[in-house]
Amino acid sequence: MIVMKFGGTSVGSADSIRRTVRIVKAGLPRKPLVVVSALSGVTDMLLAAAEDALKRSLPAGDLVKKIRDRHTAVLLGLGLGPGLVDAEFAELEHVLFGVSLVRELTLRTSDYVASFGERMSSTIVAAFAKASGLNLQAFNACELGMLTNAAFGSAEILPETYASIAGAVGRIPGGVVPVVTGFIGKTAEGEVTTLGRGGSDYTASIFGAALGAEEIQIWTDVDGVMTADPRIVPDARTVAVVSFEEASELAYFGAKVLHPKTIIPAMEKEIPVRVLNTFNPAGKGTLIVRKAVKSNPVTAITSKKDIFVINIHSARMLMVYGFLNNVFRIFNDFKVPVDMVATSEVNVTVTVDKQFDVSGIVARLGEFSEVDVLSDRASISIVGEGIRSTAGVGGRIFSILGSRGINVEMTSQSYGDVNESIIVMAGRLNEAVQALHAVFFGDDAGKVAAAGA
Ligand code: ADP
Ligand code: ASP
Ligand code: MG
Repeated sequence: MIVMKFGGTSVGSADSIRRTVRIVKAGLPRKPLVVVSALSGVTDMLLAAAEDALKRSLPAGDLVKKIRDRHTAVLLGLGLGPGLVDAEFAELEHVLFGVSLVRELTLRTSDYVASFGERMSSTIVAAFAKASGLNLQAFNACELGMLTNAAFGSAEILPETYASIAGAVGRIPGGVVPVVTGFIGKTAEGEVTTLGRGGSDYTASIFGAALGAEEIQIWTDVDGVMTADPRIVPDARTVAVVSFEEASELAYFGAKVLHPKTIIPAMEKEIPVRVLNTFNPAGKGTLIVRKAVKSNPVTAITSKKDIFVINIHSARMLMVYGFLNNVFRIFNDFKVPVDMVATSEVNVTVTVDKQFDVSGIVARLGEFSEVDVLSDRASISIVGEGIRSTAGVGGRIFSILGSRGINVEMTSQSYGDVNESIIVMAGRLNEAVQALHAVFFGDDAGKVAAAGA
């Protein structure tokens, strides 16, 4: 069997859903389990509606009407009855009314509100496929064993999740193709959780690993994993083969095409992941496997704008052991992951995703050091298996950015890493990524590969 995951744009309009169902139909001989995201933009709208409900006492604001209109247009465009998701809207309006009454919006409630996007999209895709003569049936992942912990907003699966998914999917009658909600799960107590933004990719790989899929397909709106974000570098190219490790680094350091955790279950079970384009299904896409041999030492360049750079300065670190332990224990206490780290004799510099509140950490660090938090910086990660063994990659990075007067403020690459990350001013990010892309993938790129060979 295979898992086929379709992202927001792949189910974002009647035309896209038609394309998606055609692709599923072509995949039927491989016994697919389909995972879908919410219609593009709907998760944002749902979360905004929840914020809106917090501020007003009306049962439902304009945003709910917009979300409803969006779904109605798609339903009518597919020739389906506009009432198909009425039950979900009635429930959503109740929840939002509750938020406006109690004037409280917890992460738990946000997850519940966000879950409606995938619940509705899966219902619509299955109904349209059924009307087209295919035996697709919508399932909420919560009914299919998708158990998580209670870390609302970015829940993690439990040790028993694979077995509970395998058991639940095994009970689906033969011939039925399940269309499963991405992004959401439930706790052992039955509360709805989400896996974090973009989490439907992760759902797909969890189901793939639980069911021993022969392949996990991520259908999106670009031709695969590209040499850079095509919105920053318009002439970015599709990469044919990417290693699990490269894909993990790319996703973790900003390549939105994959949720950062997607690769973990696939890697555990050695399941190839293929990234494909719903709007160009004949394309080869990108294959993500354990080993990828390439002539270019660099596979792709990615970047992240929403980061804090935290610099911790203390003369007390000189010749003293235990300082780093004290620093990282504080991050650990606040459960905030550190992305990049660089140390010198008197400074420790780290980066942290802006989704985390670092005020408590800064206060604790301030008890024994001077702390600066910079919020106008961006990270760039140059990723490739060849970086481990190729001389001169760092030199190329510094020299091209230096020639443009772009200061590299921090750099981090450990022994054996497939990732060389740097920090620059956020205002110069696009220019820096474009310049680096030209160096590693432009006409001169062959020379880089040859120099490193
Ligand atoms: P979906 O809704 O299908 O999950 P996303 O919007 O989450 O799609 O991810 C696809 C988008 O990721 C692309 O449209 C592209 O703009 C962006 N992206 C960023 N970096 C990369 C990259 N290196 N390769 C491909 N796409 C990238
Ligand atoms: N709909 C969710 C989001 O927008 C999950 C996903 O698209 O993967 O984050
Ligand atoms: Mg996505």
